[in-house]
Amino acid sequence: MNETGTRILVVDTSALTREILSRILREELEHTEVVTAASGEAALAELDKGRFDLITTALLLSDMDGLALSRRVRESAHHHYTPVIVVSGDADSRLLREGFEAGVTDYFDKSNGYKAFGAFIKSFLQRNSGLSGHILFVEDSKTSAAVTGKLLEKHGLTFHHTDSAEEAYRLLARMREEPEDAEHFDMVITDFYTVGEMTGGDLLHAIRAKFHFSQQELPVLLLTSADDLQTQVEIFHAGGNDFVAKPIVEEILLARVRALLLIKHQYDALKAQTEKIRWVAVTDSLTGVHSRRYLVDNGEAFLRDPANQPTWAVIIDLDHFKRINDTQGHITGDHVLAEMGNVLNARFPDDMVVRFGGEEFCILARRCNEEQILTRLEALRRDVEARRPAGVDVTISVGVAGTADFPDLHISDFLARADQALYAAKEAGRNQVQLCTPRGPRLSPWHEAEIPLETAALDADQ
Ligand code: GH3
Ligand code: MG
Ligand code: MG
Ligand code: MG
Repeated sequence: MNETGTRILVVDTSALTREILSRILREELEHTEVVTAASGEAALAELDKGRFDLITTALLLSDMDGLALSRRVRESAHHHYTPVIVVSGDADSRLLREGFEAGVTDYFDKSNGYKAFGAFIKSFLQRNSGLSGHILFVEDSKTSAAVTGKLLEKHGLTFHHTDSAEEAYRLLARMREEPEDAEHFDMVITDFYTVGEMTGGDLLHAIRAKFHFSQQELPVLLLTSADDLQTQVEIFHAGGNDFVAKPIVEEILLARVRALLLIKHQYDALKAQTEKIRWVAVTDSLTGVHSRRYLVDNGEAFLRDPANQPTWAVIIDLDHFKRINDTQGHITGDHVLAEMGNVLNARFPDDMVVRFGGEEFCILARRCNEEQILTRLEALRRDVEARRPAGVDVTISVGVAGTADFPDLHISDFLARADQALYAAKEAGRNQVQLCTPRGPRLSPWHEAEIPLETAALDADQ
């Protein structure tokens, strides 16, 4: 990490674990000094004594937990930016919920083994030591812009220079509103006083208060004059991450930029990880459709969205599924459910497909009229019967209700209408689609009718 070598602090209650982790880190990393601490307080005492490049901590300590330690590290002046890695026995749900807020940089799952720990820390340090990033640089003084620009370039950074806060404001508005297409910045460096209607100070205010970029998502470094204490205080009140006084000293600018880019990169990495975890949590791992949790969180909004009208609630239940389990085994039963998930995702790609319970699925289907939804469901019913998922003869019963007949119902009442129709389908002999009407459930008119070829032929194997 630097010429003087990397210093790592390992915090764990168990002497054996401390011993193993230190040995692995020394073997894996050259020029590395490992210091250990047996408690949170002992760790904080070590941090007071010297500089560390990385801290690893167990989640459970004798006097505080790893999250509390991380918070204390973030509050400290010298180690505010030092990465904290939590080494935990499992992806503790509290760690996932509170880790980011507590300033935890990353975590390592101990069950991956100690060998993997060494590789993990090594790659973490490699990723975080180099300086990289694209900077929005706002400076109206030509000479100052030239000097600072050269400095950034020299250290491998790219930047987009503007001489007005207005232009920077436009670029950031685009980045916020059209993140796919806009130029993307990792941080902003801006002169506090720029000529024109809008100053760098106003730009900072807009970044935090109007565009709602947090200090982690878009760090802002202000350039100010050395004797302007009033402005320096104001910068922190306005949500600036840090400042550098002019005339600019290379080492100071670079140290600040490095620290802020590290925050930004850690933010991006954690965000990507959180997305992945969220996706796993909201997706049923067997069938690849959304989980019931997802329906609870998003169903009501989907139902209310004007762009989704008319909306239909569909409940699909596999017929005599217990028999399949009993005669062919649960593993085959699982294969049938997995294939059902694929078929539903392929046939309802724009809708919300959910595994409602064991062998029950629910679809919130959007923007179709009664004929369209009923023919699509009839095609689905025939498809399942014909395809023999996982080589098993299986049929489905389907209940459906629509917002045209049942407007303004809360989602659970709306689903109850579809469930009522499903019950009727089971009662009437299964393997059929029933529509709930204000006068009660009735068999779909498409039950035996020929359905439009387009709907029927939809290839669910894609
Ligand atoms: P009906 O036509 O009335 O729906 O009959 P059924 O046998 O499908 O009815 P019931 O709802 O009583 O039984 C559902 C069965 O589905 C019970 C349970 O063993 C099985 N099941 C639920 N989840 C799973 C799963 O994830 N895998 C497997 N293999 N079976 C499951
Ligand atoms: Mg059942
Ligand atoms: Mg069933
Ligand atoms: Mg059931």
